[in-house]
Amino acid sequence: MKKVIIIGAGIGGAATALALSHLGLELVVYERTKELREVGAGLALWANATHVLKSLGLLEKAIQVGYRTTNYQFNSQRGKELVNVRVDGFELPVVGIHRAELHQLLWRNVPSEKFILGESFERLKRKNNQVHAYFSSGLEVEGDALIGADGLRSRVRAALLGDMPPTYRNFKTWRGLTEFVPKDYRPGYIHEYLGGGKGFGFMMLGKGKIYWYAAATALETQPDAVIGRKKELDTMFQDWFGAIPELIAATDEAQIITTDLYDRPPTQPWSQENITLLGDAAHPMLPTIGQGACTALEDAYVVAKCLKESPDPVAAFQKYESLRFPRTKAIVEQSLQSSKIGKLKNPLAVGLRNTFMKVMGSAISSSFKSLHAYRA
Ligand SMILES: Cc1cc2nc3c(=O)[nH]c(=O)nc-3n(C[C@H](O)[C@H](O)[C@H](O)COP(=O)(O)OP(=O)(O)OC[C@H]3O[C@@H](n4cnc5c(N)ncnc54)[C@H](O)[C@@H]3O)c2cc1C
Repeated sequence: MKKVIIIGAGIGGAATALALSHLGLELVVYERTKELREVGAGLALWANATHVLKSLGLLEKAIQVGYRTTNYQFNSQRGKELVNVRVDGFELPVVGIHRAELHQLLWRNVPSEKFILGESFERLKRKNNQVHAYFSSGLEVEGDALIGADGLRSRVRAALLGDMPPTYRNFKTWRGLTEFVPKDYRPGYIHEYLGGGKGFGFMMLGKGKIYWYAAATALETQPDAVIGRKKELDTMFQDWFGAIPELIAATDEAQIITTDLYDRPPTQPWSQENITLLGDAAHPMLPTIGQGACTALEDAYVVAKCLKESPDPVAAFQKYESLRFPRTKAIVEQSLQSSKIGKLKNPLAVGLRNTFMKVMGSAISSSFKSLHAYRA
């Protein structure tokens, strides 16, 4: 294998670059933005992802800049505990981390000349077992293999599989960061609150920051309320558990971001000969069980191992996809299933859901365990 082209330097692309460079493989990453930066707020990295960080030599640093998480607690909207799942029962920790911190850990450990910034991929062509990639600037590059890590609306995916839009799942999220720590926060906890058609959660990241997220059913591309994001959230959650309106009040309006939520039904193949996809480009999922970035890290590690083992990228990508498809399909589906639990609106259904969650506590706990026990 001579040279691998990676399109996209998000968490998936940067992790792939690092995994390939650890194995001594040649790579170049092309990223459309002019600087390497991650927007968004926090992430939970479960044991399946901290395993990848450990293998890449980054776990200790991630723990230093992040925060160890021990419990995932689900509550009613007024704060009555429904389920409390311990998530720290593995040989590896769970870490709450700011996305930008994780991103930096990944790309800073790859020589900077491997990242070509400000280049927007447009199309590709296969010629004599080589892949040629064309960019909007007019740049044309050639490699032995190409990995599309260009996210939810991947152009590489469109070139391989056709330009189908992702599926909007009828809800949106708000995310914020603040240094305010509510008095009810329990160290190491992810606290999540479920009500009718809405939910709210918060957790500690490193450096004294609390990351919170809210989700609610909404029409696609619904604009912000005229009263602004903060007031809208305040109205939505005013009679919820006290820490929630406090966290909203303590957050700068400019620090609140909104995102519409999409996924794609899992389909195969996602590779063609010496071209493949990775992360959200391959298997975008709803964030309900927090596995999008975690599975992108798993993909990165596995694709690098497959390329190292097989000098032929066609065979390597077949192996990679066969290893990754069943797991990511199950997680995309589980993420969608979990969103249905969160979207219930009718008070009777909400009451039943809450009772059900209490009864199903041990089943929820073992489903988490099997998800997090995977080692790429
Ligand atoms: C509200 C929310 C909460 C989440 N919480 C969690 C969580 O707790 N845990 C978790 O594991 N995951 C979480 N996720 C999911 C996670 O953010 C994504 O799955 C992950 O970021 C995907 O990484 P990626 O590298 O595949 O794609 P992206 O992060 O989208 O990166 C794609 C990169 O490709 C670049 N690019 C795009 N098009 C082109 C082009 N044409 N040419 C060149 N470059 C291009 C982009 O600029 C970008 O840098 C959450 C997601 C959301 C929306």
